[in-house]
Amino acid sequence: MQAAVYLGKENIQVLEVEPPTLEDGEVLLRVHACSVCGTDLRTYRHGDKKITPPRILGHEFCATVVESRAPDANVSVGDRVVMYIVLVHGSDRYVEMGRENLSGHRTTISYHHDGAFAPYLKVPALAVQRGNLFRVTSEISNEQMSLAEPLGCCMNAHSRLGVGLKDTVAVFGAGPIGMMHACLARLQGAQKVIVLDTNPARLAMARRFDIDAAVQVRPDGSHREEVRALTNGFGADVTIVAVSSAAAQNDALDVAARAGRVNFFAGLPKSNPMASLDVNQIHYKELVISGSYSEKKSDFQASFALLHSGRFPADRFITHTLPLPRIHEAFELMESGAALKVCILP
Ligand SMILES: [Zn+2]
Repeated sequence: MQAAVYLGKENIQVLEVEPPTLEDGEVLLRVHACSVCGTDLRTYRHGDKKITPPRILGHEFCATVVESRAPDANVSVGDRVVMYIVLVHGSDRYVEMGRENLSGHRTTISYHHDGAFAPYLKVPALAVQRGNLFRVTSEISNEQMSLAEPLGCCMNAHSRLGVGLKDTVAVFGAGPIGMMHACLARLQGAQKVIVLDTNPARLAMARRFDIDAAVQVRPDGSHREEVRALTNGFGADVTIVAVSSAAAQNDALDVAARAGRVNFFAGLPKSNPMASLDVNQIHYKELVISGSYSEKKSDFQASFALLHSGRFPADRFITHTLPLPRIHEAFELMESGAALKVCILP
């Protein structure tokens, strides 16, 4: 079969590889659609120490079970499925508290196990046993259902932000993750949803969603005043940083209202993770800062259910679909801001 294989930094090649063969307890999937994640792009451009090449990337997928050596599994041959991609080996205090994303004993599809930029993917026995496969029962498309994984990551942040009817929300970054946060804020009843970005093409795409304002981030910092003007001078009750930028982190602290909640959803580059922040913003405004990494199984379940409900505008996220051999075009479309979500059809 043809697969997009990560061989190292700036080196992903579409190669002929042996299709996976099953052992007891495992399940074979035929991949229909796999969306390209920002982390796939980051791995391609900068490499990732957690990944030992060769590795097939791709972890946001929808597939059908075509073979099973797991008679007790919760899915069977013919079922269309999506997957919670975190595998927990054993247990620890984080697993016990339902926060398996923080477990020291986790491995992940496309990092430690081959992913879905290939026509077939083997689901490890542990993932089958732990019920990581979810049967899709609605008519929703494969491409849209591939959003279950990134949407679950956003749900993880929201599970601690608790956006509600009284909140104004500012999201830095109008990429797919930023727009997912904006849509989740709207669905939870936020009074006002403001999206900020440096890229006018992304802001134009953001305006197609149900948001109240798309604000251009400018070098003179006037976007900060714009957020205050849009929030009756108070600033945003909830601020989410969905872009890997220390400047945006500082902007977030600045536009946060007193007693605001701020989530640093995106990390900074691993090669340069230090930031200089105005911590007096945290002190005087009594801000609550949170981080967010991957997702809990409960977040994936919530994301899966939301996509099933049809209330999430998943159709607006998939702007491009490409065959596997054109995966490099996907990276370029993402970098230019021309695409929101690019879906690969292996
Ligand atoms: Zn992802």
